[in-house]
Amino acid sequence: PLSCGIVGLPNVGKSTLFNAITQAGAESANYPFCTIDPNVGVVEVPDERLDKLTELVVPNKTVPTAFEFVDIAGLVAGASKGEGLGNKFLAHIREVDAIVHVVRCFQDENITHVSGKVDPLSDIQTINLELILADIDSVDRRLERSRKNMKGGDKKVAQEVEVLERVKESLYNDQPVRSVELSDDEKLLIRELHLITSKPVLYAANVSEAEVANADANPYVQQVREFAAAEGAEVVPISAKVEAEIAELEGEDKAMFLEELGLEESGLNRLIKAAYKLLGLYTYFTAGVQEVRAWTIRKGMKAPQAAGVIHTDFERGFIRAEVVSYNDLIAAGSMNAAKEKGQLRLEGKEYIVQDGDVMHFRFNV
Ligand code: GDP
Repeated sequence: PLSCGIVGLPNVGKSTLFNAITQAGAESANYPFCTIDPNVGVVEVPDERLDKLTELVVPNKTVPTAFEFVDIAGLVAGASKGEGLGNKFLAHIREVDAIVHVVRCFQDENITHVSGKVDPLSDIQTINLELILADIDSVDRRLERSRKNMKGGDKKVAQEVEVLERVKESLYNDQPVRSVELSDDEKLLIRELHLITSKPVLYAANVSEAEVANADANPYVQQVREFAAAEGAEVVPISAKVEAEIAELEGEDKAMFLEELGLEESGLNRLIKAAYKLLGLYTYFTAGVQEVRAWTIRKGMKAPQAAGVIHTDFERGFIRAEVVSYNDLIAAGSMNAAKEKGQLRLEGKEYIVQDGDVMHFRFNV
């Protein structure tokens, strides 16, 4: 499954948030393919459509789709030079698909700030600098090797060197790789370097319990918003401490607590949704009487690949898919009614799965 790494300076609230994530955690029996690791928290992706489909089909079981958060502790100034957990940290962060950068926007005299005062912009720059330095290291090493190989006259190596030089220049100017305009082919050339600053990022602005209902009144949150807007990144205001409390509640209690706080939904849900959007993810559904279930795919996936998310056999033996869009199914009121209205389509190997498709796959074993 796809994953988001949680980074940030010490004492900004990462562990508090990560603990809330594991506390709210998914029923692991439903997700045997997920990583079992104390640093990985698996969460269910909230989706109202799944509730509606459950009402319609009345299955034995309903299973939301899942998403992983990885706690990437140990990032301090100097990490790229091996300070703190240094290299171990960098190895973890190379593997995630996106980054959630937690920044401290709460004031609390009892909790030390590593650099002496609350200053989210300076914190962001400290972390970003470490990530940029780590990427410079990777790029430099690769460039050295590729320049040697270039003497063989391989066109692809020459292309790679050209791209790496552009990336390097940007990094030396303090700009992340994600800000460099690269074609899909160029991205492919440097993909195996797993450059950290090429990953999409969103900022989680950690505010105090008192501010959570009106986080945008916090001037630090505004600063983070302005910074993020210039990068085209998203900001999710959240109170890690409140999330930890929410995660311990269920059902009615949870709803009441959220209402008391003046919140429509938990910060964790907003964070999951933002991460989903950041990664360009879609959800499709399978809806049988045994199980109604949501599945995550990347935008643009074709039907066989989407089937492969359920099981590799489904991809290998794919014949065709019966598809009805969620809206049509709900409007029709039942699968049979949708069929009578001609809304149940037969789609082949080239079909690009849409967000909200309700799919039934036919395949050879
Ligand atoms: P980490 O080092 O980034 O993982 O930070 P922690 O999650 O361990 O948090 C550091 C300290 O800040 C802990 O004592 C938390 O209880 C406290 N903390 C985290 N979030 C908040 C918050 O929203 N408000 C307040 N007042 N304290 C918080």
